[in-house]
Amino acid sequence: MTMNRIGLKLGAVFIALIIVILLSLGIAVDRLFTNFYNEQMRSDTREIAAHFAAMAESNDTFSQSMIRAFAEFSEVRVFWLSADGKVQTLSGKSHPDRSWIKADATRRLLSGHPAEYQASDAQGHHFYVVGQPLKTSQRTRPAIYIVSSMKKIDASLQRLRNLLILSGLGAFLLALGMILIMSKLLSRPLLDMQKMTEKMAQGDWDVRLRIGSNDEIGRLGHSINGLAASLQRYRDTRRAFFSNISHELRTPITYLQGYAKVLSDGFVDSDKEKKQYLSIIYQESVRLEHLIRDLFDLAKMEEGQTTLVREWLDLKEVIQTAIQKVKLKAEKKRLSLQTNLHDPIPFIRGDRKRMEQVLLNLLDNAIRYTEKGNILVQLTRKKEGIVLSVSDTGIGIPKDEVPYIFDRFYRVEKSRAREYGGTGLGLSIVKKYVERQGGKVQVDSEPGRGTTFRLIFPYEEKQGQDGTKS
Ligand code: ADP
Repeated sequence: MTMNRIGLKLGAVFIALIIVILLSLGIAVDRLFTNFYNEQMRSDTREIAAHFAAMAESNDTFSQSMIRAFAEFSEVRVFWLSADGKVQTLSGKSHPDRSWIKADATRRLLSGHPAEYQASDAQGHHFYVVGQPLKTSQRTRPAIYIVSSMKKIDASLQRLRNLLILSGLGAFLLALGMILIMSKLLSRPLLDMQKMTEKMAQGDWDVRLRIGSNDEIGRLGHSINGLAASLQRYRDTRRAFFSNISHELRTPITYLQGYAKVLSDGFVDSDKEKKQYLSIIYQESVRLEHLIRDLFDLAKMEEGQTTLVREWLDLKEVIQTAIQKVKLKAEKKRLSLQTNLHDPIPFIRGDRKRMEQVLLNLLDNAIRYTEKGNILVQLTRKKEGIVLSVSDTGIGIPKDEVPYIFDRFYRVEKSRAREYGGTGLGLSIVKKYVERQGGKVQVDSEPGRGTTFRLIFPYEEKQGQDGTKS
């Protein structure tokens, strides 16, 4: 199995950690109990040895039978070590195995010093041996040996060890199971993400991740889903954009080709008709030029290539320049072009050329979609910002169409294009330029009565009329 999965790596680390913890815990518990039992045995045997030594000192038959009775009761064997070094059984059956006797312990005892040690016989049984010298005035003294079997302690310790091994194994298996589940839970969403991003790399942006948590992995999943949704939107708008472009370009070109062919083939009856066709060719070529210019502007903006030249702008001046440019068009349609620019208006930070283009687009639309009445441009200072509005008394926009008029190539009735001209890009350019300059666009419209576009720009309160800060 290769260690190329995060779950396996984590699992291996945790298992190693658990083994180390369980082993050291087991060893510590085993040591603790072994020491405790040994200490208990040591002190019990020492105490018995002291009592028996006191009894043995009188060396009469009563004390010997007392020793035998107590030895049986205490489950120990008692031996007599005579001053000449011979060992005799004082209690219990006489056992031939004397391998527990150690020469140096015997020497110590005979010279009057106590001795104690652990010993084992040929069958592997353990004993705890305490030797206690008797109080006599002789140089070599007799002594007694108390031999206590460690069988019960060994059995208890063995049971404890078995229990420790069993519970350790249980804990290990439990931890192993949990680690496997955890690593699966951890690596499954990551594997799903990997598969999804691979699909996305192959152009399938309709896929989505199922997210079941709100932790870091869940949040990463949400971001990937968000990315897929943005790419999908980008693809859809790009598709729509290209199909719109080809449609929008094809229409004027068809007109140009058609009327040019009619003229070149001489299918015209009069000079008036010829002039009419030439005028159509001219209008269509202007429309084509506007379309290409608008498309170029939009594409540049969407690529993020438009850099705005920000300066302190006197919006009144910008409005007057734009009005000069559309004046003739309005006069041709007998529309009155009015302004209300009386309020003292602070300067704003903006790009003069782009602001003028925004205004020209709005004024062009107002003139284009108004047959009679007037167009009013107002500049006011309100709490929410500086408001520049362009109102007309034109055909208006139905309420349910208003949310879409800023979309590229969107036109209210599709027939409006031929009837009124226009590229369908003007308002999307307006919105983009206004928003890039920190402003927002609002529309109020009533079909048959007119439309008002309102641009709202933030401004700084503390500044002089010429834009200088006070
Ligand atoms: P166009 O070049 O077709 O005018 P725009 O993006 O400028 O494209 O406008 C989108 C659509 O919004 C127009 O096709 C038109 O139907 C509608 N519209 C824009 N301005 C006005 C207005 N002042 N009055 C009525 N309808 C308008």
